[in-house]
Amino acid sequence: MAESAVRFGILANAMPQKMWTADEQGNVNYLNNQWFEYTHKSFDDLKDLGWEKIIHPGDWRHNEQTWLHSINTGENFELEHRFLSYDGTYHWHLSRGVAQKDENGKVVMWIGTHTDIDEQKKKEQRKDEFISIASHEMKTPLTTAKAYLQLLELSVDNENESSTLYAKKASVAVNRLNELINELLDVSKIQNGKLAYNITTFNFDDLVNNTIENMLHSSPKHSIIKTGLLQQEITGDKDRLQQVLINLLSNAIKYSPQAEKVFIDVQQEKGEIKVAIKDNGIGIPARHLEKIFDRYYRVEEHAIQFQGLGIGLYISYEIIQRHHGKLCVESEPGKGSTFYFTLPVTK
Ligand code: ADP
Repeated sequence: MAESAVRFGILANAMPQKMWTADEQGNVNYLNNQWFEYTHKSFDDLKDLGWEKIIHPGDWRHNEQTWLHSINTGENFELEHRFLSYDGTYHWHLSRGVAQKDENGKVVMWIGTHTDIDEQKKKEQRKDEFISIASHEMKTPLTTAKAYLQLLELSVDNENESSTLYAKKASVAVNRLNELINELLDVSKIQNGKLAYNITTFNFDDLVNNTIENMLHSSPKHSIIKTGLLQQEITGDKDRLQQVLINLLSNAIKYSPQAEKVFIDVQQEKGEIKVAIKDNGIGIPARHLEKIFDRYYRVEEHAIQFQGLGIGLYISYEIIQRHHGKLCVESEPGKGSTFYFTLPVTK
């Protein structure tokens, strides 16, 4: 026993992560050396200090709630938060806590690790800032170009077919560019909690029919088959929900180049609307499913053949969540994917 404790200590101190163990009630009873190097404090100092002194105030509440939930339920946890180092700076860490259980499923102890992800986080922040500034800067000249193109379209001589065609094509390209920039701006707004919602009550079925009709013009190769009918009003942001429908339907079309049909089914179930968007396309390997709604996440196997920014699903997820609904996916490579979302109905 003593030998295995020594071995455990050697192992725990050899790893780059900070590590801890706690008893079944969550009282910390071991910290590895990385903790002492990071804080310049001893085990007793750290124990007496309390976690709230080390964890960034902005992360503390979420941290406390997660930890209490795990203690009450015995569920493992994973979270990102900032720890105060000895030099007064905070570093981002990815923390995991795993419950060790006996044969009856009772928690006997907790083991946890903290991985320093500060550099990675800062890189992400720099990328996000760059994207936010760049898309803001691009928006103004683009709006001007759009306005002049509209004037050009109106002023070209209708007799001159090629000029009319060129002006139209330029307009389509500028509109697409505008959509892409708006999506990038949406990502920045989501991160800053500033994505605005304009809430009204409206008929969801009309919105679906409208969206399908609009989309058929831009994707003439595919047909969109709708099943189910809802005579149900919902309360939400119509444009943002249309954005979700467009994102999911255009993905279904984009990622099923060999198919001719994509499907949308709308149903009402126990106080909520359930929408399923199905394609018979290339599908998504299982290992990607968990990350598919992360921002900028793209399935590497698809990236060569299909272009994109990897933000449509991230934005859609956020919009559905803000409507108190859920967005999820089922998929099988080679067979196709179904994206589901729910929305509460208006009482
Ligand atoms: P984008 O399509 O611009 O890359 P999204 O956020 O819409 O960004 O989608 C993220 C990734 O999810 C895509 O890169 C693609 O690999 C995968 N994906 C999304 N929808 C589908 C689908 N219907 N079928 C297969 N893969 C999909």
